[in-house]
Amino acid sequence: SAPRSADAVPGRVRVAVRLRPRNPEELIADADFADCVELQPELKRLKLRRNNWDSDTYEFDEVLTEYASQKRVYEVVAKPVVESVLDGYNGTVMAYGQTGTGKTFTLGSLGEGDTSDRGIMVRSMEDIFAELSPDTDSITVSYLQLYMETLQDLLNPANDNIPIVDDPRTGDVSLPGATLVEIRDQQSLLELLRVGEANRIAANTKLNTESSRSHAILMVYIRRSIVDNEDIESSENGGDTPNFITKPSKPLVRKSKLVVVDLAGSERVHKSENNAHVPFRDSKLTRMLRDSFGGTARTSLIVTIGPSPRHRGETSSTILFGQRAM
Ligand code: ADP
Ligand code: MG
Repeated sequence: SAPRSADAVPGRVRVAVRLRPRNPEELIADADFADCVELQPELKRLKLRRNNWDSDTYEFDEVLTEYASQKRVYEVVAKPVVESVLDGYNGTVMAYGQTGTGKTFTLGSLGEGDTSDRGIMVRSMEDIFAELSPDTDSITVSYLQLYMETLQDLLNPANDNIPIVDDPRTGDVSLPGATLVEIRDQQSLLELLRVGEANRIAANTKLNTESSRSHAILMVYIRRSIVDNEDIESSENGGDTPNFITKPSKPLVRKSKLVVVDLAGSERVHKSENNAHVPFRDSKLTRMLRDSFGGTARTSLIVTIGPSPRHRGETSSTILFGQRAM
């Protein structure tokens, strides 16, 4: 059967841009100034003001205005990736942008005050739970932070030197020693994300760094039991096929993973000395994503921007980064 996720093209990064609404401070301080961008969502275009008369126009796969709901953002940015992960492929969703423009709101919001605020992590898991059967399938999760070149377990912060191991035989990447938690419902996911976020804040306080300087990475591993002969045959045509483990005369187990990356604040990346200009070329992040970025994997990038004319320079860099990633 045709994959449901026709929207998510393998090997190409789909890039969406999302504008955050003005915050109360910007509403007052910038009241006399126009936003630095103007969005044309139907045309999938964004105009970045150069001055009062001129602007530069950019096209994206999706343009999400300050009125776009979390639900809509999930549907256009992450749902195609999640569906392809449920079909057996690996996938990645990342957010990039200046600190304060809504990366964590977009990806990590738990929606505790208002469930309509729930972000991509929680909504992805909701769709995954709905599709899997608890008797035969399993979902395990790790939550990590990458700061400089150090990979730390956010579910066990004492473990702050996790190696990244490539299996040359299967092409899989593994993180030996990272805490893996099996989750069965939304409640246990929310608890895990809360613990991870608290540990992230505590770890960064101890190191005297800010969480805006690290990447937060949620790994979701899915194992599904497949009893479909068609699927078994399709594993033999190589190339663009899901990952299979064949167990003779036993049900077939299909493995895939979803990686959600809340990247370090773009302003840190530009100003940092380590010339990691493109954050996901950052060598450890690249190695971690080797099996879930490019190739047959589906990848979505959401670049987040603010409206303030005062941050026009940073907004421009973020937009250009998104353009280069397409
Ligand atoms: P980042 O992770 O990029 O530093 P945050 O996600 O922490 O940014 O967002 C900064 C603030 O702006 C938070 O208070 C967040 O709730 C708010 N915010 C971000 N995006 C939106 C949005 N689309 N709608 C409403 N509030 C938002
Ligand atoms: Mg953040």
